Amino acid sequence: MKKYDEILIGSGPAAYKMANLLAQTDHQVLVIEGFEYGGTCPNYGCEPKIFLEGAARTVLQSQQLLGHGISQPATLDWKTLMQTKLNRFDPWPNETREIIKKSHDIEDGYAKFIDNQTVEVNGHQYQADHIIIATGQTPNVLDIPGKEYLHTSYDVLSLKELPKRITVIGAGFVGLELATLVAAAGAEVTIIVHSERVLREFTKAEDEALVAAMKQRGIKFSFNTNTQKVTQEKDGLVVTTDHGEVKTDYILDATGRRPNIAKLSLENTAIKYDRHGIQVDGNLMTTVDGVYAIGDVVSRKEPKLTPVAEFEGQYLVDYLLGKTKQTITYPTIGQAAFTYPEVARVGVNADEVVNDSQYQVKTFPLKFSSLYAGQNDQISSLTLVFKDQQLVGASEVGDYAADDINNFLPIIGLAIDGAEYRQKLMAIYPTLGDKVGSLLP
Ligand SMILES: Cc1cc2nc3c(=O)[nH]c(=O)nc-3n(C[C@H](O)[C@H](O)[C@H](O)COP(=O)(O)OP(=O)(O)OC[C@H]3O[C@@H](n4cnc5c(N)ncnc54)[C@H](O)[C@@H]3O)c2cc1C
Repeated sequence: MKKYDEILIGSGPAAYKMANLLAQTDHQVLVIEGFEYGGTCPNYGCEPKIFLEGAARTVLQSQQLLGHGISQPATLDWKTLMQTKLNRFDPWPNETREIIKKSHDIEDGYAKFIDNQTVEVNGHQYQADHIIIATGQTPNVLDIPGKEYLHTSYDVLSLKELPKRITVIGAGFVGLELATLVAAAGAEVTIIVHSERVLREFTKAEDEALVAAMKQRGIKFSFNTNTQKVTQEKDGLVVTTDHGEVKTDYILDATGRRPNIAKLSLENTAIKYDRHGIQVDGNLMTTVDGVYAIGDVVSRKEPKLTPVAEFEGQYLVDYLLGKTKQTITYPTIGQAAFTYPEVARVGVNADEVVNDSQYQVKTFPLKFSSLYAGQNDQISSLTLVFKDQQLVGASEVGDYAADDINNFLPIIGLAIDGAEYRQKLMAIYPTLGDKVGSLLP
């Protein structure tokens, strides 16, 4: 049986980071990938999503400026847009595979554990000093009658023809972002939400502003609604809920993502996991010595995002090479939904501390600034949270919320106060950045 220094199971951002760093060492490494090399983010996640969002944003911005100097709003040709997406992204998995293969051994197939130390793929068994599970998450599929008619984000991001009526079940990041995209392209969209709110990571006011803007563009929401079944009828699909029926042509099941562990045969090991993923200690080691987990497959409170997955990949290489003995400490993490308007946040959520006298919450409408007025953006609003005069939280709903909130990450992460900021930094004018100095006490 061949023995390696490291076996990486998966090749998404977490494992790819490790593979790149280990390529600079003399370690013998095996990378095992069961599907598309590069994983979710570059192939069927963040990257194609933001690529498609470019054209959708242009359409939505032109609609917003109708009567404000724009007389003819842009329209989106889905087929052409999708072809440009496929041209760009289709070669990526193979290119990534070739890059990894230059430095490491690879196996194309799904890995499973035979016991605590042994992994099997394509009938070959392997052992290593360190086995790293980096298998990410996979979309949840509702277990209801007619589930064969449900599609995932993977399908939508490669959809060649745009259906007339699209129903989205679930209003998390993926559901709202993809609903924004297909609605901008001209589909009639209904979103079924099982609770009374969308993105709970944001303030109630922010998610209400987002929902109001989406509704204004004709997107329908059905809150507090549970989906019961899907049936095929002669003029399309019917989604039956506890609040009536929705007639539709296509259904995106965006009810969440779960740890991608089904194929690993963890029952052959002592590796423990829960519904959020594999349990690890402060060094990312699982409950089995020498077996680690990184990226989305880990059970942790930090959000499941590409930079977090890469950070864990970097940490684990440093730890295994003896460059650090510390337990992992996560940096200040920013988060956004690329809807229209966007919502973005970092640090303390204002709603959670609004009645706590230790904190001060301030909200600033942005529509008075020429930058936002020039977009006819009427709803942009920035909320800042301070504790002892120090900024500890920032969130925004607005056309450029993701970029805007990036301005606040260093202030919170490096604990910079207003005086230091104004003394040392002068941001580009006129952007949100140039206002930051005057917003800090
Ligand atoms: C639609 C969508 C949009 C997103 N947008 C953003 C965004 O804007 N910003 C952001 O930061 N994050 C975003 N994410 C999340 C981001 O994609 C993930 O956080 C990131 O890909 C996690 O990386 P990972 O390496 O942990 O897992 P993945 O990228 O999921 O990679 C895991 C790999 O393991 C492979 N695998 C699974 N089981 C096995 C097995 N048994 N054997 C061998 N291989 C196996 C899989 O095939 C996959 O290639 C988005 C996700 C989705 C779905």
